[in-house]
Amino acid sequence: MSLAHGRPYLAIPGPSVMPDRVLQAMHRAAPNIYEGDIEVLAAGLVRDLKKVALTTQHLGIYITNGHGMWEAVNSNVFSRGETALVLGTGRFADGWADFARRMGIHVEVIDFGLRSAADPARLEAALRADTGHKIKAVFVTHMDTATSVRNDIPALRRAIDAAGHPALLGVDCIASLACDEFRMDDWGVDIMIAASQKGLMVPPGLGFLFVSDKAYKQCQNADLRTPYWDWEARFFPDYVYQYFCGTSPTHHMFGLRESLDMIAEEGLPAIWARHATLSRAVWAAFEAWGDHGRYDIALNLADPAVRSHSVTAARIGNGQAQRLRGWLEAEAGVTLGIGLGMAEPGTKEADDFLRVAHMGHVNAHMTLGALGAMEAGMHALGIAHGAGGLGAAAQVIAQHKGSAHTKMQDTSVPKAADVPV
Ligand SMILES: *Cc1c(COP(=O)(O)O)cnc(C)c1O
Repeated sequence: MSLAHGRPYLAIPGPSVMPDRVLQAMHRAAPNIYEGDIEVLAAGLVRDLKKVALTTQHLGIYITNGHGMWEAVNSNVFSRGETALVLGTGRFADGWADFARRMGIHVEVIDFGLRSAADPARLEAALRADTGHKIKAVFVTHMDTATSVRNDIPALRRAIDAAGHPALLGVDCIASLACDEFRMDDWGVDIMIAASQKGLMVPPGLGFLFVSDKAYKQCQNADLRTPYWDWEARFFPDYVYQYFCGTSPTHHMFGLRESLDMIAEEGLPAIWARHATLSRAVWAAFEAWGDHGRYDIALNLADPAVRSHSVTAARIGNGQAQRLRGWLEAEAGVTLGIGLGMAEPGTKEADDFLRVAHMGHVNAHMTLGALGAMEAGMHALGIAHGAGGLGAAAQVIAQHKGSAHTKMQDTSVPKAADVPV
């Protein structure tokens, strides 16, 4: 007899929890896909997605997942044999590099390991060494969902500028958009990709490619471009079918319309603050459970400044992470993420890692509920841990500044709805 019956909670880093409002918005007949309301809907999505990315430049939407967006970027940016520099901070940067290599792009990687963010000084040095300016683009994840590393995008931009190098800056925000602060235009980002199923709270199936005008112009002659991935018609559609290179993803569009309204209602600063506090609650619980190394429980990243605000990677040694995941799903209705890229799959060590997502449609009671269920599971399974994890998380939640207060403090930060496009 299990305590899992009730509303299940999928606390994995994508797909994230879909709001009832989003699901209900999708529960309707398909519209005319040739003309009429769908044209207004498509144009409105483009306009409002740009507000979430804080950009006024180009956006193409694809019917695909995150992996497809790597291919979308690679095919529009490069000609065969041109060079990409990838900053490796976990499995997702590796994935982008692998896709590029397999498409005939020359890929250089600076590997920062699994426990630190990309170092701007090393990027600057690598670009200074590239005196012939062979590197066409630098790719990095804003947050690597495997390690939960968060990279400092403005600092990486400054490093490119300090080196006087023309390389484009491409950022994978699939795990961070609408979770943590990201400002495409202010931060000088040239290429940014996102997907529907994480901070945007919509089912998997849509990918978003944001591109600066500079990058658009610089990549006009990329010869890896193929008809489906070509960004041209998606940026400048004359007919509604050109937005998606074929039939519109009608129901995803309805869901996305609703989620963008929800994002505008809450406001980006409040969303960023909510994610920051919920992530700190998760960290506080793990720190209490690990009790300064007394127990074999630890966050992947020692430095809070490089930790993601949408997912937390952690270790519970001796295979207990995997056991705890199993218990939570069977006995408590909570599914946590598996460890990814931290150990060879199939080895004993791979069972020592897990990830707790706190991205998108997630609030205080969901995070406290997941943490409380984890603590119960540790008791049930006899996993040795420090006391006070849930209490420490509750203290963090208690100190959160309410949204009215947040808005007063952050008057310089535009609300999604206030950003002109
Ligand atoms: C989830 C994710 C991807 C891959 O997305 P899929 O939809 O699973 O293909 C790529 N990059 C990052 C940073 C992600 O979090």
